[in-house]
Amino acid sequence: MPEFLVTVAVPVPLYRGFDYLLPAALTDGARPGVRVRVPFGRRHLCGVIVRAPFERSDPVQDYRPLDAIIDDEPLLGTELLTLCEWAAEYYRHPLGEVVAAALPGGLKHGDAAERRRREQWMLTAAGHDALAALPSRHRAQRSALEALAAGPRDSGEWNIPAAVRSRLLERGWIESRIVEAASGAPLAGAPTLTAAQRTALDALEAGDDGFRVSLLEGVTGSGKTELYLRRLEATLAAGRQALVLVPEISLTPQLAQRLRERLGDGVRSFHSGMTDTEREQTWLAARDGSAAVIVGTRSAIFVPFARLGLIVVDEEHDPSYKQQDGFRYSARDLAVVRAQRFGAELILGSATPSLESLYNARAGRYRHVRLTQRVLSQAPPEIRLIDMRGQPLAHGLSAPLLQALDRCIEAGDQALLFINRRGYAPILLCHACGWRAACTHCDARLTLHRGRQRLICHHCGNQQPVPRSCPSCGAGELMPLGHGTERIEQALANRYPRQRIERLDSDRLGRRHELERLLDDVRARQVDVLVGTQILAKGHDFPNLSLVGIVSADQALYGADFRAIERMGQLVTQVAGRAGRAGQRGEVLLQTHEPDHPLLKLLVERGYDALSEALLAERRDTQLPPYAYLALLRAEAREPAQPLPFLRAARELLLPMPGIQVMEPIPSGMERRAGFIRAQLLIQAERRSTLQRALAATVPRLAELARGVRWSIDVDPADL
Ligand code: ADP
Ligand code: ZN
Ligand code: ZN
Repeated sequence: MPEFLVTVAVPVPLYRGFDYLLPAALTDGARPGVRVRVPFGRRHLCGVIVRAPFERSDPVQDYRPLDAIIDDEPLLGTELLTLCEWAAEYYRHPLGEVVAAALPGGLKHGDAAERRRREQWMLTAAGHDALAALPSRHRAQRSALEALAAGPRDSGEWNIPAAVRSRLLERGWIESRIVEAASGAPLAGAPTLTAAQRTALDALEAGDDGFRVSLLEGVTGSGKTELYLRRLEATLAAGRQALVLVPEISLTPQLAQRLRERLGDGVRSFHSGMTDTEREQTWLAARDGSAAVIVGTRSAIFVPFARLGLIVVDEEHDPSYKQQDGFRYSARDLAVVRAQRFGAELILGSATPSLESLYNARAGRYRHVRLTQRVLSQAPPEIRLIDMRGQPLAHGLSAPLLQALDRCIEAGDQALLFINRRGYAPILLCHACGWRAACTHCDARLTLHRGRQRLICHHCGNQQPVPRSCPSCGAGELMPLGHGTERIEQALANRYPRQRIERLDSDRLGRRHELERLLDDVRARQVDVLVGTQILAKGHDFPNLSLVGIVSADQALYGADFRAIERMGQLVTQVAGRAGRAGQRGEVLLQTHEPDHPLLKLLVERGYDALSEALLAERRDTQLPPYAYLALLRAEAREPAQPLPFLRAARELLLPMPGIQVMEPIPSGMERRAGFIRAQLLIQAERRSTLQRALAATVPRLAELARGVRWSIDVDPADL
């Protein structure tokens, strides 16, 4: 009797599939995409069959049998499985880990793939009474109840800690119900398109159905989302499903709600802020076709669909579409691949497109569709530079910026201050001896966080109490140097004691319901000044801003990374784009010590368009992406002498490969991080395919050279 084998993707960091004997009793169910339980070393793991049973040819090799088959039907359809295979190969990441990354929560570990019905939470009558009477110190409960007071919430949209939820349940303040089908609530009507939107929509729709990529370039408020909605409606009307990607978790509820009002109950969220079960259920609903639209962050690119017709990537330039550790993929780039294989339409939307997408649009690979005007308010204001050189500063704020703030506050208007640094101050310095608080694990300074009374390393998370006196000389006065969001917030609170000043940075993002409430308050004009980091640039809609102040963007001008100025241009344009409201032009001020920097001047005087032109020309001259393709091999070890020799050995393997350039290995920008010494090797090629061939031939051999060195390959790295 012939014996049969199957190849299984097992979630381990090894570059190969594993073959298992297929017991005769299990032959029927063994198909690609089916999950199986397999012995692996001394463990038993859940893997996915990636190759149909094939006859065993070598009699000597020892194979272990499968333990069990988990699914009756393949959980991963051909489309998702081939996407995983493509991604594993392109990003040079072990297939087992890629497949595991594509499976949410318990499905990864072998839980039964059962669709449960969807749950909605709502306030009871007792809950309404309780909300009115609840003392304000019960903040978590209050805000959870407030969120429901506006109406029932889907479990995926109502993000509250499980402990709070069960307390509210115990008290009888909330209840849940199972949602059967569309509620039948009347859907909101569509506004009549403006002439510009009409032209843009025609351009998106022109030609045959099926695969096409459109770069939809338009400032915030120009009506891009309305165009997404039109294409979504058409997609659903044709009986197909859609995926909408956003860069930030906090943007999902807002957008999902807006889509739901127009498209109905089939709109579902998918992001890492949801529980495993919620994500699993959404994943399964998309797979069986019962969810019409999925709105999600990066990882949603791996949600399976029964009939995918449209993918929208909003704010396509955003760096968060690139996963920065483990399986380093770009969700935006995978969206292109996926749309192509699925014959789907792809819309990349942004006010500040990435150079990669602009390049593709110019080359005719993408349609370039523009919206240049805002629908409701006036055009974004021009940016005014403030030369800070030699100026007196109060907590990093110059007189012209402070005066503009005074005027804004006096008029009862709303202002936003952007500073790309959280915490109170990036440096704590001893005035007597020059000691600076440094991280013991990294080559980095510790940031002073006053509110938490801590010194925190922003690179490894290491925390220390703030010393009372200088640990070095014991005598000196410790003074904070430089400015972060906390410090600016405090300075403004002192200057405007009767105004409400709020801060928005990742230190506040942990408590999601609190963030949603803050954003609501900003939109309701209950906040006078909002101080925040790049989160402010992520597409949140602030309709009432009269003034936007950019405290500094200079850091990018000295940045070593080749994308630093592109990012700066995107951030500044996005933040500036929040200014202005109906019938009133806003004001944007940018403080700098480099008022004559040619690229900064170009951005301010002629806008992001002109800046991106100049940057593209620069990239072409220096042979950097999108005019060349890069991969970065990173290595780190506790032993300082190890990373560089490993990279040199890797370089020897790569050098003979045709068509690529391999640089000398160098220490990473921050050489020591979290106790590891780090180094990197840059590989460059004129063509994607040559780079791919070189990597395919070498990466699987790196493990043998590693000897205690941790390494990773980053294809199309976001930063160097
Ligand atoms: P973007 O996605 O580019 O920021 P939106 O689609 O959100 O722009 O539109 C900005 C604002 O203008 C929203 O409040 C939206 O409801 C409104 N809007 C968009 N298109 C129209 C239209 N054709 N008529 C009236 N209002 C519109
Ligand atoms: Zn000292
Ligand atoms: Zn550190």
